[in-house]
Amino acid sequence: MKKIIHNRGSIYCDGDLWSIFNSTLKTLNPSKLFILVDTNTKAHCLPYFLSHYSLDLSPIILEFKSGESQKNIHTCLNLWEKLSEKGTDRNSLIINLGGGVVTDLGSFVACTIKRGIEFINVPTSLLAMVDASVGGKNGVDLGTVKNQIGTIKNPHSVFIDTSFLKSLPKNEVASGLAEMIKHGLIASEDYWDRVKDFDLKQTELASELIWESIEIKNSIVTIDPFEKDQRKTLNYGHTLGHAIESFCLSSQKRQEMLHGEAVAIGMILATFISSELTAFPKDKRDKITANILTIFKRQNFNEEEINLILKYLMFDKKNADGKIYFVLLKNFGEYKINCEVPNNLIYSAFEYYKKI
Ligand code: NAD
Repeated sequence: MKKIIHNRGSIYCDGDLWSIFNSTLKTLNPSKLFILVDTNTKAHCLPYFLSHYSLDLSPIILEFKSGESQKNIHTCLNLWEKLSEKGTDRNSLIINLGGGVVTDLGSFVACTIKRGIEFINVPTSLLAMVDASVGGKNGVDLGTVKNQIGTIKNPHSVFIDTSFLKSLPKNEVASGLAEMIKHGLIASEDYWDRVKDFDLKQTELASELIWESIEIKNSIVTIDPFEKDQRKTLNYGHTLGHAIESFCLSSQKRQEMLHGEAVAIGMILATFISSELTAFPKDKRDKITANILTIFKRQNFNEEEINLILKYLMFDKKNADGKIYFVLLKNFGEYKINCEVPNNLIYSAFEYYKKI
């Protein structure tokens, strides 16, 4: 089993993780145990999870409809009410069994009910394994604006069983791969070089690459848990990615875009901007773009849509004084935070994305 031990937020992956999981539950000895699932993880992940669960205490299953559009305060309200009806007390425990929507929202619900109860993350999507379940950021969207409400608190622990990925749809695997590619860009060219050829159909061979990605994320959030400096690099591609995601959530004409799909476009745009402002090598930029375009089909954005995306940029939490700040790269693993980017360069980046 691979593991990273912290006072809070230890991470266990594969091997005999279920025996550690059950002994952790025994030690915590909760008065009530809730398992939060969405419709898909209830169908695909809960039976496997329960087959490994060995506590005498019967778990109470809480469910909500899957999808980013459910990551809002209304779902929280519903869950707070259910938790209250079921007699939640300060010694109750919530296990978040699902993708990033379940872990983000479930952790926030746990942090807020009764002024905070204990919670554990059991991520089931690739994105939640390598990114969302680690680092303690949790919360919900406000309308269509991403992650505006939330707290930063690590889960008690994170248990990652990569065999959950067998039932994950391929487009969702690709969405998680986008965050692994990001980890390569911000931390290591060598890692990027290996992860870029990840075979979406062979997740069972990817345990090592997944673990390396978790290690990259863990090392960054451990150094800078409250995003004063280096943690901002994890937002690489997310400034425009979130704006694109919010725009697609709000548009009647567009399909909801998966988080990683939007981040993948955001990374192409950010790498173009980096090549213009922080001298990221253009040959490497074009290789990164070509690789991302083999995984994610190019999307078309007309001028009116780009204007709307720029409006969403204003909601980004990294902005200050009405200015838009980006994380940019000088090369793989060499970052520059708080870069002010003029609007005309953002339009040029979309032009590059459209034409290359
Ligand atoms: P998700 O939770 O919506 O999961 C994707 C889809 O896969 C859902 O339909 C889900 O029901 C389904 N699913 C999950 N596991 C499955 C499995 N094993 N088998 C079958 N279906 C399964 O989305 P996601 O991509 O996991 O996460 C995206 C969310 O994570 C976004 O809201 C994003 O903002 C957030 N996020 C948070 C952080 C953080 O640091 N907290 C980091 C990155 C992303």
